[in-house]
Amino acid sequence: MARVALVTGGQRGIGAAISEHLQRAGRTVVASYAGNDAAAQAFTEQTGIRCYKFDVADYEQCAAAVKQIEAEVGRIEILVNNAGITRDATMNKLSRDAWDAVIDTNLGSCFNLSKLTWDGMRAGKFGRIVNIGSVNGQAGQYGQVNYAAAKSGIHGFTKALAQEGARYNITVNAIAPGYVDTDMVRAVPEEVLQKIIGRIPVGRLGRAEDIARGVVFLTSDESDFITGSTLSINGGQHMY
Ligand code: NDP
Repeated sequence: MARVALVTGGQRGIGAAISEHLQRAGRTVVASYAGNDAAAQAFTEQTGIRCYKFDVADYEQCAAAVKQIEAEVGRIEILVNNAGITRDATMNKLSRDAWDAVIDTNLGSCFNLSKLTWDGMRAGKFGRIVNIGSVNGQAGQYGQVNYAAAKSGIHGFTKALAQEGARYNITVNAIAPGYVDTDMVRAVPEEVLQKIIGRIPVGRLGRAEDIARGVVFLTSDESDFITGSTLSINGGQHMY
């Protein structure tokens, strides 16, 4: 039977490419999303991939969703913690709400869904978890104290959980994308974006597929000797 993969934020942007690439790799994929019903419906019509609406920052909603997915589709063996948000502001303007929202959505979600799928992966002696970090979690970024902290936290989370999963054939890895051409990046002012592109050694924004291919690799059955790693997919930007 095909392994079941849950991709959070999997119907739009980078997540949509991850869902489609995993499906092409033979996985049974389900995607989660927060509230964009139109995108979810269109994505399901186009790909046949089922979408489940719940807030990844809310533990109780995650618990109910995992229960429903496992009853309707099967035990989750591959988890891609991709859902994320930005609420950028410099420290003098950064609100407590914007801090909490970004930490809870980007990092708290990794705890929620890893915790809720962990026992099943341990029992089945197989699991693949990929957490989507960011080059800005590696290097920091002006105006993104909350986002950089959350993404940097993901890298620590990954290395710690990988140590716990190793003996159960559960690998836990992270991908640190650079700037990828999605709605999140289209929200960056054009002049700022041009400066950013100027600092990317390969001279272009990433494409969602660039990240998706990395996820397929790290979630394959054969990648069992790779755990606790961070794969930098950012055109070389992490070196600067
Ligand atoms: P998008 O803004 O295009 O999509 C975000 C996705 O996450 C959507 O599916 C959205 O659902 C979902 N989502 C957001 N909040 C929640 C929530 N509380 N509960 C459930 N789902 C939620 O983002 P990208 O595709 O650009 O980014 C994907 C990941 O990659 C993020 O973790 C991001 O931080 C990371 N990343 C992105 C980079 C980039 O350049 N784009 C660079 C580095 C990292 P809905 O559609 O319903 O709103």
